Amino acid sequence: MATLEIKNLHAEVAEEDGEQILRGVDLEVNSGDIHALMGPNGSGKSTMAKIIAGHPVYEVTDGAILLHLEDDEFGEEFDIPEDKRTWNLLDLEPNERAALGIFLGFQYPAEIEGVTMTNFLRTALNAKIEEREELFEEDDEAEEADADDEDSGYDTSPMEGPADEGEVGVAEFQQLLKEKMEQLDMDEKFMQRYLNAGFSGGEKKQNEVLQAAILEPSIAVLDEIDSGLDIDRLQDVSKGINALRDEQGTGILQITHYQRILEYVEPDHVHIMLDGKVVKSGDASLAEQLEDEGYDWVREEVYEAA
Ligand code: ADP
Ligand code: MG
Ligand code: MG
Repeated sequence: MATLEIKNLHAEVAEEDGEQILRGVDLEVNSGDIHALMGPNGSGKSTMAKIIAGHPVYEVTDGAILLHLEDDEFGEEFDIPEDKRTWNLLDLEPNERAALGIFLGFQYPAEIEGVTMTNFLRTALNAKIEEREELFEEDDEAEEADADDEDSGYDTSPMEGPADEGEVGVAEFQQLLKEKMEQLDMDEKFMQRYLNAGFSGGEKKQNEVLQAAILEPSIAVLDEIDSGLDIDRLQDVSKGINALRDEQGTGILQITHYQRILEYVEPDHVHIMLDGKVVKSGDASLAEQLEDEGYDWVREEVYEAA
């Protein structure tokens, strides 16, 4: 199991006199659970998602984002030593966070010409595996590795030829991809297409779920993956999100403005963000109440109490 623990998170835009956006967020997500984070426009939901991923536009002024890993989180054969079971994500680069099992779906993935989906995904998976090896190397080995390693982030160039040690080779990857695509009811033709070139909004969202299925994160943060989807595509994407949890135990933090997707992806927990704080948490019935009554009553409750 893994736990993402956001504690008293304060953040502002990283520029002089930057506006304060997050004012003490507390939130905990366990792998295997589905959380919905709701809230009016401008309450800070996307900012929090981007800070989890390590977006440089924001400066964290207080608080922590901890990731706790149990010793078998990366499988029986991957032993996580006791002193490496808790990480403060704020000390880590974005690609290191990804390597530890944090996935942030991009609302609008970049179109990259000349790179097929297959190559992109295999490259991303191998980058994650390699980075994770580095993070868990003994410290003296890590120094050596750093000396001949100047990468940060993904190398998205197509990779052909034999795989290096520890990497997922072409044939093995094709098999993995086939399984995952079947799980998501995706068309195989997809994979030979260039990354996002000419993909519809719905196809991009489906791709995002596929990325998460391939990378098998401990925790996936999905920011408005439901926006702009017609009902058929919403159901496909929802099925994929449920599979992430059911098939691989991923914890989902589903950020959404609308209750609609929650009919298909049933949350175990619902949280409301208001003015940069999580002000209320409950079960799925809280989302239904928001659908019926909007946010005004929440605002009143919070400010009467203050
Ligand atoms: P939500 O996703 O809940 O709609 P956001 O996190 O996008 O809210 O935005 C929260 C607030 O922070 C808004 O008032 C927004 O204008 C502000 N904000 C977010 N990012 C930036 C930025 N890079 N520069 C200036 N203001 C920002
Ligand atoms: Mg947003
Ligand atoms: Mg590296």
